[in-house]
Amino acid sequence: MCGDENEIRYALRQVLCSHIKREQLWITSKLKLQPTSCFGPQGGPGSDTEWAQTLGKALIVSFERWWSNVKALLFQKPGHASIATIPEPSVTQGDILLKVRMVGFCGSDLNSFRGLNPLVSYPRIPGHEVSATVVQSDGGDESLAVGVDVALCPYTSCGKCASCRRGRPNACQFNQTLGVQRDGALTEFIVMPREKLYPAELTLKELCLVEPLTVGFHAVARGRVTADDTVAILGCGGVGLGAVAASSAWGARTICIDVDDKKLELARLAGGTHTINSLREPLHDRLVEMTEGCGPDVMIEAIGSPATFRAAVEEVSFTGRVVYIGYAKEPVSYETRLFVQKELDVLGSRNAQPEDFRAVIGLLEARKFPVDQAVSLVIPLEEAPNALRSWSENPSRFKKILVSLD
Ligand SMILES: [Zn+2]
Ligand SMILES: [Zn+2]
Repeated sequence: MCGDENEIRYALRQVLCSHIKREQLWITSKLKLQPTSCFGPQGGPGSDTEWAQTLGKALIVSFERWWSNVKALLFQKPGHASIATIPEPSVTQGDILLKVRMVGFCGSDLNSFRGLNPLVSYPRIPGHEVSATVVQSDGGDESLAVGVDVALCPYTSCGKCASCRRGRPNACQFNQTLGVQRDGALTEFIVMPREKLYPAELTLKELCLVEPLTVGFHAVARGRVTADDTVAILGCGGVGLGAVAASSAWGARTICIDVDDKKLELARLAGGTHTINSLREPLHDRLVEMTEGCGPDVMIEAIGSPATFRAAVEEVSFTGRVVYIGYAKEPVSYETRLFVQKELDVLGSRNAQPEDFRAVIGLLEARKFPVDQAVSLVIPLEEAPNALRSWSENPSRFKKILVSLD
């Protein structure tokens, strides 16, 4: 077969574009064949064009047979994960169809897998840290054209509760997070409202890190951190690491506290100026030493244990700010006199606001975050059930696992 390559491309595109099915749209975007009305030269019987059209039709038959359902990772019940097939999502007016490219796992996914997240019911598809590519859009917004890569905000907001009315939809009373109260993104295609999407010039790995980093960025915003502050962060896992990166991005002196030297090393790469291993070093003495006896201006708690909840108010300076991101799983008793005596601002921080997403994307676009060091493993979807099992058996073995759906 020889002939005009362009003619063949045009003919293939014509056939593919005449079938507005998500698989073909994905393939056309991957082949950089824009689904527009600009079709190429036509040919008669026996021409290259006819040959290409026949090939295109044959491809479509195959696609329809293979992809009438889509693959997904499913938690059937606690401790049980497998690959399942689910119906294709349907696109409603104004929503955007996305091909999911890569999804990150975090501690909350591990909790869901283990049956330790009270908000999760089963069966449930996990996945809320997502990089995806637009495959169908209503064309209203150039920044979300077919082929654009995006990160996404996995929370819903009702628009009516007190938080929503105050412009803080991140703390919506009726929030439903992807993969928690509703099915998540660990499937080949998802449909999302356009306002939840953040297009960015980032790699798939970087896009997956956007959402987990926003949680720490939001905590730093809640603490009103400035370049004049000394900020101490209790816990340098995924969430704490975002707080370290944000605090250092705003120019604050950033003290990173953890019991794991590897996490502390990574925290330094993310911008931490000082580290304390609280297993080996006396936390109080070290903080006093580093702050000329005053204590840090801002303490951010990103663990969720009673001891660190208390340490935050005990170690913070007078008139300082305490920000809690960690979820305590049991009641915590306090010396409440410290709240009054120090005249503290004690703040909760939940999820993230659109400006936190934009700030994280800015940081990643400036290549100011140690992306490769923060990710332990990239695996295909088929290996996700096994990876979850080995992570559950040995939680300290992995920092961040990413699942590729390409
Ligand atoms: Zn997460
Ligand atoms: Zn609400």
